[in-house]
Amino acid sequence: AGLRPFFAIGQVSEDDGTAAGEEPAMARINKVLVVGGGTAGWLVACYLARAMRSSDPSGIQVHLVEAENIGLLGVGEATFPSIRGTLAAIGLDERHFLDGAHATYKQGIHYRHWVRPPGTPGRDAFFHPFNQPSQRPGGPELLPYWLLGEAPAELPFAEAVTLQSRVVEGGRAPKRPQDPDYQGPLNHAFHFDAACFARVLAEHGTQTLGVHRHVATVERAELDERGAIARLITTELGPMTADLYVDCTGLRSHLAGGTMQSPFLSRADVLFADRAMAMQVPYDRPDAPIPSYTIATAHEAGWTWDIGLQQRRGVGYVYSSRHTDDARAEQVLRGYLGNAAEGLTPLRIRFETGYRPEHWRHNCVAVGLAGGFVEPLESTGIALVELGAYLLTHALPADLDDLPRIARHYNTMMVARYERIIDFIKLHYCLSQRRDTPFWRDNTAPGSIPQTLQDKLALWRYRPPHRLDFVGDLEMFLVASWQYVLYGMEFRTDLTPMRRSYTQVAEARQEFATIQQVAARAQDDLPDHRAFVERMVREHRERAGRAHAAA
Ligand code: FAD
Repeated sequence: AGLRPFFAIGQVSEDDGTAAGEEPAMARINKVLVVGGGTAGWLVACYLARAMRSSDPSGIQVHLVEAENIGLLGVGEATFPSIRGTLAAIGLDERHFLDGAHATYKQGIHYRHWVRPPGTPGRDAFFHPFNQPSQRPGGPELLPYWLLGEAPAELPFAEAVTLQSRVVEGGRAPKRPQDPDYQGPLNHAFHFDAACFARVLAEHGTQTLGVHRHVATVERAELDERGAIARLITTELGPMTADLYVDCTGLRSHLAGGTMQSPFLSRADVLFADRAMAMQVPYDRPDAPIPSYTIATAHEAGWTWDIGLQQRRGVGYVYSSRHTDDARAEQVLRGYLGNAAEGLTPLRIRFETGYRPEHWRHNCVAVGLAGGFVEPLESTGIALVELGAYLLTHALPADLDDLPRIARHYNTMMVARYERIIDFIKLHYCLSQRRDTPFWRDNTAPGSIPQTLQDKLALWRYRPPHRLDFVGDLEMFLVASWQYVLYGMEFRTDLTPMRRSYTQVAEARQEFATIQQVAARAQDDLPDHRAFVERMVREHRERAGRAHAAA
């Protein structure tokens, strides 16, 4: 996969860090209180509860408190392939998930009008698939041969090296009915309705995993003499206490940003988008094809996402308020949607790209939007939640005395991920040949491009990115993702000085031809995307009906 899952599919922690027969040392974390019931809150609660229950049912208790009168953000509909590992790890059945979250499959992102403005000569679009470039064992890496012009008919990079572009163009799903949950021949993630997803997780967390749910609004937190949270004061339920508090209150960051005053580091100097306008758009007919990819279309001051769910599309414009105003942004969004936007009112969202370098302070850790946010171009929000849930779970049980050291490590891990994500997102902007508006011109100004990214680009002028250019597991995006974006955007790597070292031309040509043949056959082997999703949902309902009747 171009995007690395944080753990093997289905794996949950079975090691609580205590050797057999060893006495628990000192004071342990016995109770975790998650504040917030959005995607972040419920994913963390489910992940913690599943891991803790499977290792020691009498161990850590997981509680979640959510306010009924404060809504969740309600966007956040596209994911990374790592979500499959996470959903499998918490034991959520795939058909149940698809039905409850109105989910569909995602095999990559189609970037339109990013390379150059529409209407100018040349290709203006490219695809970032989730499948890695194909490579036969012992066979050549295909990228250098593609750069040397050995691929047939000047195929774009993604189309030349993987069959996934052809599969999505043909409207096919990444898997077949007989494939086990969360597995299939092609790498994939999901699109889903964020509010429905939170509901499915809440039901699974409370009914199957033993998460204790409370409905109350946290008004404030009281600190002890060391500056740690002693208790939360809620409007409806009075004081609530725990050993560890997980702030999942979204952009409010009620505990981490509020009570703990963990500073926010803005990266708006690199990534300018700070507003979004979203609409839930009905399909024009019930059997409209559902693309199994996100469509990200560049516009004058930002870009739109367009996501196909089961019953509707989720569409939004992400833009920079320094480069346009809300009225013009709405015109752009409506212009993109045409008649489909008639009668719809957009949801307006303000945000800033950046993060809290101290996600974790004392006994409070922020996960999700409460900790930070990078504009959603590559769907990194939920992936960072997954990462947070994973790192947090595997840090527990811990001695309370060790929390400062664990927090330091956690913060180092999160900061590294944020910075690498910011570099990767900026790559999309700074390689664009668009100069048609101040937004695009400012995005290519060297002062806005992080030094780390400029260094990488300099290196890749005479050789393509290699996996050793990246620091292993700290990367959210593997080398293949960098390659897809670089060469989709027509970045020039001049291999002529090294041409003679690439000697496997015949094998590479053969492999390029094989990929095209396999791609043609895959159209017959894989089901239609919409039909497949509908079948999975139907099977879940039949199964649930039988279980209900038997009970
Ligand atoms: P929220 O969904 O806002 O949930 C906050 C929760 O906290 C709510 O339940 C609320 O009731 C509760 N709460 C708040 N205050 C209190 C209080 N005082 N007491 C009790 N409860 C409280 N990510 C992706 O991975 N893919 C995407 O495509 C994507 N698109 C995005 C588009 C936009 C425009 C934005 C802004 C974000 C996007 N994200 C995306 C990020 C994604 O939305 C979030 O990472 C994800 O939804 C997690 O949100 P959350 O749970 O942190 O916050």
